[in-house]
Amino acid sequence: MGYAFSTRCLYGNANVQEKADKTKALTMPIYQTATFAHNGVGKSTGYDYTRSQNPTREYVEDVVNSLEGGCGALALATGMAAITVTLELFKPGDHIIAGSDLYGGTTRSFEQINMKNGIIVEHVDTDDVNKVEAAIKDNTRGIFIETPSNPLMRVTDVRKLCEMINGRNILLIADNTFLTPYYMRPLELGADIVIHSGTKYLGGHNDTEAGFIVAGSKDVFERLRFIMNTTGPVLSPFDSFLVARGIKTLPLRMDKAQENAFELVKLLKAHPKVKAVNFVGDPSHPGYEISKSQTNGFGAMISFWVDTNKTLVDFLEKIKVIKFAESLGGVESLATYPAMQTHHAIPEHIRTAMGIDDTFIRLSVGIEDIDDLKEDVLQALG
Ligand code: PLP
Repeated sequence: MGYAFSTRCLYGNANVQEKADKTKALTMPIYQTATFAHNGVGKSTGYDYTRSQNPTREYVEDVVNSLEGGCGALALATGMAAITVTLELFKPGDHIIAGSDLYGGTTRSFEQINMKNGIIVEHVDTDDVNKVEAAIKDNTRGIFIETPSNPLMRVTDVRKLCEMINGRNILLIADNTFLTPYYMRPLELGADIVIHSGTKYLGGHNDTEAGFIVAGSKDVFERLRFIMNTTGPVLSPFDSFLVARGIKTLPLRMDKAQENAFELVKLLKAHPKVKAVNFVGDPSHPGYEISKSQTNGFGAMISFWVDTNKTLVDFLEKIKVIKFAESLGGVESLATYPAMQTHHAIPEHIRTAMGIDDTFIRLSVGIEDIDDLKEDVLQALG
């Protein structure tokens, strides 16, 4: 019988470590080497060159693969590297449907890299499966979703989407950065590929950048591995070690951050300067029931609108415990101004129409003491 989730966070599939490391070191060592000597002609140890494979990277890939329930995982230098490698599965003329509300860097990559390379990307509200179905064309080969989406927290019904595309030769790619496999496993719901910015909850400590791709089939995995080895944006041995260490506490961190998020949502909803709050764990959120049906938790990402831009600026300049910084998913709480930071690349008229305006704040709730967080939010809102 396989180990339960939290045990797999510690060990993954122990065979990977046993294969490379005979010392019985408790943690997988950092194999800081570019290359590996051969025992003779045609006698590889199984490792030839770090871009192709390295034991420390293989170890963290195995852990992430086992948590997502995949057929193989790849560890890359950043989340954007994971998205870039995945998009190399498509060829000029292919049509891809992408969520209308996605991390700004993902949208920028679609618009300025993939479109230039001949891939036709169309943005659709994927929280409405009928709209997705209406957008499907003969050349549609992929659908790219974030659920909940960044930063508006829209929820896509993954099961329903998979039923709709079943048999149509379309790959469903789910960016699972916000919920992590601890709260949601898109492959089990029918998705074909899972993406992560490992910089976020998997690494978990705001001290490294990483990306992961997990494939739901061996065939897709081998195609992705070929692309990764050919293009080369792999995760270094040291960063592989850091992410593997971060994952050991993933369930503890996620539960604590979520608990804090519930408390802060209550406080924000009751505050006179806060106009509206997006949190998928709030029963009034339009995606609440779907979230409950496809996840084991709601995560710790919140976004909200305040009354004026002055309140937003004051908030971001006055917070002390929470830091005003890009990124999310670490032990430290971070507040972001999406219109100026993470989503600046989206043309202003589009982002304003979506609600990503100059009163909109995104909050990644960390694991600090809740009283310190509450006090910080209250003093910063004024
Ligand atoms: N996916 C999501 C949901 C993100 O929020 C981000 C970054 O913020 C990325 C992907 C890109 O990841 P990275 O910054 O590690 O390249």
